[in-house]
Amino acid sequence: MLSRFPRVRLASFPTPLEKAERLGRLLGVNVWVKRDDFMELAFGGNKVRKLEFLLGDALTKGADTVITTGSLHSNHARLTAAAATKLGLDTVLVLTGEKTTQLKGNLLLDALFGADVRIFKVPKQEVNKIMQEVAHELITRGKKPYIVPGGGANAIGCLGYVSASLEIVNQLNDLGVSANYLVHATGTGATQAGLTAGFKVLNIDVKVLGISNGRRKDDIVSDVVKLANETTDLLNSRVRIEPADVTVFDDYTCGGYGVITREVTETMKLAARSEGLVLDPVYTAKAMMGLISLAEKGFMEKGSEVIFLHTGGGPIIFQYDEKVQSFGL
Ligand SMILES: *Cc1c(COP(=O)(O)O)cnc(C)c1O
Repeated sequence: MLSRFPRVRLASFPTPLEKAERLGRLLGVNVWVKRDDFMELAFGGNKVRKLEFLLGDALTKGADTVITTGSLHSNHARLTAAAATKLGLDTVLVLTGEKTTQLKGNLLLDALFGADVRIFKVPKQEVNKIMQEVAHELITRGKKPYIVPGGGANAIGCLGYVSASLEIVNQLNDLGVSANYLVHATGTGATQAGLTAGFKVLNIDVKVLGISNGRRKDDIVSDVVKLANETTDLLNSRVRIEPADVTVFDDYTCGGYGVITREVTETMKLAARSEGLVLDPVYTAKAMMGLISLAEKGFMEKGSEVIFLHTGGGPIIFQYDEKVQSFGL
C-alpha cells in the first residue's frame, strides 16, 4: 500500500506496544501503550513517522532546505530540524511566540541542531505567508526550499500514520488482542486522519478517540475528515471517511493550548507513579486525562482493550519545568 511513496528511514519500527498493568487495574480496562515516544531520533514522537514521508518527498524534489513552523515548544519543529540535519539539509523554523534568549526544552534542541530559528509574534494564520516569504528569500540566494506544513499536516504526512495503523494491527494479531479503542492527543488532526484512514482501509474496527489539546472539537473533526479523504485519494483507495467516523473530545483542554493546570500535573504524576511513564504537559497528559475520564465515566466498557498512543513530547517538560513544579510534586 505504501511502498510506492518515497520515504527516508528515521527510526526503527515497530515501536513497542506494552501493557500498562497497574494503570489498567486502576481503571478497570486493559491499557496498552504504543510507545511512539520511543525512537532513536532526537527523543522521538509522532512527527518522526510523518517526516519519513515528507522528507522523502523533499529529497525526491531536490530540496536542500526545509522550512516549517510551530509554537515555541513545538515537537514538530525540533524533529524536523533533527531529521533534516541527519539528511544533510538546512532548516529554517518559523516559530510563533515571544522572543526569548532562555533556551530550554525543544528551543534548546532546535539551536543545538543548528536550525535557523526565527520567532514571530503573529497569529498562527499568518505563518504560511511568512514561510512563503522565507522560501522566496532562499530561492533568490540560489537555494531549493521545501515547505513542510505545521505539524506535518498534509496527506503525505498522514501516510506515516497509515503505516502506523498497519504496524498496530500486526502487533495486535501477534498478541491475540482485538483492540476496542485507541486514544491519543490530537492537534492538527493529521495523526488521527492517518490512523482513521488506515484502519478503515484495512477494515479494522478500532475506534480512534482524539483528545484535543486546545482546539474546538468541530474544527478538528472537519480537518480530520478532509485530511483522511486526501490520504485515501493519495492511496488510490475508494474508502471515504465521514464525520461519523471521527470522534474528538474537547473536554480535556484545561483552558486551551499550552495551558498547564494542576489537573495536568496530577495526571503526569499518576502516569509516572503507576507506570514510570513520562507524559508532557501540553499533549500527552491531556490525552491521558481523557482516557482516564472516559474509562471512569463508563464510555469505555469495563474490560475494554484500550491503546494509548504515546505521541512523544518529552522535552516540553524541561521547557515548562517551573510551571510543572509550581503545583507541587
Ligand atoms: C504534534 C503532536 C500531537 C498532535 O498531532 P497532530 O497530528 O498534529 O494531531 C500530539 N502529541 C504530541 C506530543 C505532538 O508533538
